[in-house]
Amino acid sequence: MPLGRAVWHSMQPKRKKCDRCNLYSRENLDKCRWCGDLDEQGLALLRERIEHQHQSNKSLGRLFIVLAVITALLIVLM
Ligand SMILES: [Zn+2]
Repeated sequence: MPLGRAVWHSMQPKRKKCDRCNLYSRENLDKCRWCGDLDEQGLALLRERIEHQHQSNKSLGRLFIVLAVITALLIVLM
């Protein structure tokens, strides 16, 4: 690992993955910052929101690929 990255890593708070919601929160917290205060219904909503976000990130990624291809075509054609 390069030194800069190692330093950056050592400065980050230790994080652990939550078994309930699969999100990461700080290890020194006694409950998950995402789902610690949620009941089952709240957790279901949180999961839905995460899934929705993943979907929009994917379509945003696709949009950027399309824009990159169009830009490349324009450069080649001009
Ligand atoms: Zn959680």
